[in-house]
Amino acid sequence: MAKLFDGMARLGTETAFEVLARAEELARSGQDIINLGIGQPDFKTPPHIVEAAVRALRDGHHGYTPAPGIPAIREAVAEDIAQWRGVEVDPSRVVVVPGGKVTMFFAIVMFGGPGVEIMYPNPGFPIYESVINFTGAKAVPIPLLEERDFSFDAESVLANITPATRLLILNTPANPTGGVVPKSEIEKLVAGLVDHPDVYVLSDEIYCRMLYDGREHASLLAYPEIADRVIMLDGWSKTYAMTGWRLGFAVWPGKLAELATRLAINCHSCVNAPTQHAGVAALKGPQDAVETMVSAFDKRRSVVVEGLNALPGVSCRVPGGAFYAFPNVTGTGLDARAFQNRVLEEAGVATVAGTSFGAFGEGYARFSYANSEANIRRALDRVGQLLADVKAT
Ligand code: PLP
Repeated sequence: MAKLFDGMARLGTETAFEVLARAEELARSGQDIINLGIGQPDFKTPPHIVEAAVRALRDGHHGYTPAPGIPAIREAVAEDIAQWRGVEVDPSRVVVVPGGKVTMFFAIVMFGGPGVEIMYPNPGFPIYESVINFTGAKAVPIPLLEERDFSFDAESVLANITPATRLLILNTPANPTGGVVPKSEIEKLVAGLVDHPDVYVLSDEIYCRMLYDGREHASLLAYPEIADRVIMLDGWSKTYAMTGWRLGFAVWPGKLAELATRLAINCHSCVNAPTQHAGVAALKGPQDAVETMVSAFDKRRSVVVEGLNALPGVSCRVPGGAFYAFPNVTGTGLDARAFQNRVLEEAGVATVAGTSFGAFGEGYARFSYANSEANIRRALDRVGQLLADVKAT
């Protein structure tokens, strides 16, 4: 066996990709699979965005660009932040990268390492815990509990900060729960963080445009008392149905923007030029496609929550954002992994076990409602039949 950096043995993965591979394998063998496992919009990228990329290629934008992004995209991001978050940021603090994940990796690598503690949401996006462990830092979970609608208690988060804590990762609206941290809790957290000047925050706001029931996004960037310690992660993947383009951005505290750029130069040089032009068109162009997509998700949200609550042994809170429902499946008698596997193999419905998002996901399953209403209804019928059989045996 090759002698590798020991962090490699601690690197985790994103099980959703494994579920996707198995679902595709079953589909190839002729089984009808309904995919509620995947975390990407089932919409196409709006045509004006695609056109901007095609035009960029035709206009000869084939070369390297500045590592943190072309000036037009960094300026467009700063304008977007002013519009949607009401915060002025200098474009020099914006670093454009190939997807939201890259910001996550850079931030955790920057702060991690042996002897360090990093707090992260659990259940949460699995890459947080994976990369924290990879660096050798201690991953300290922030439990997100169903009884709090998968938000957290700011006081207990603050109570768990130690002298070794360097980074606090937050994600609202959240994957996999659809939970939204109420503004009041964010305010309590921010007030407490003033007493911990060495703790930085990675605020993953990639689902910020997908909020329901009149909720407004509370960005961590909007608090001047900690703004110089906030890395705000966002991107185009979810908002503009651009997951495969690989395009994301972050606003970094000034000095860290230079370090993030240095990491980019060491890693990928820059995002490909036509995609950056597409990104500008997305931010500056009409937003009606985003609105159409979010109102479709909102409608499906009711269908999926109502349908899940009608299943034997399943109960589901109403998620406030993103496009995920995270039902409690303990009443089915199946653990999270068994639920995922049986629902896929026997009902032909792909979902993701709650435990793929951390230990606090035991007893839950993630249903993505980025699929048509008709498919969601069909999937729920099939899961219902399977669960009736499970109950009978
Ligand atoms: N952050 C969260 C919470 C996510 O759910 C995802 C993708 O599923 C990402 C970041 C990564 O997004 P990207 O595909 O742009 O890397």
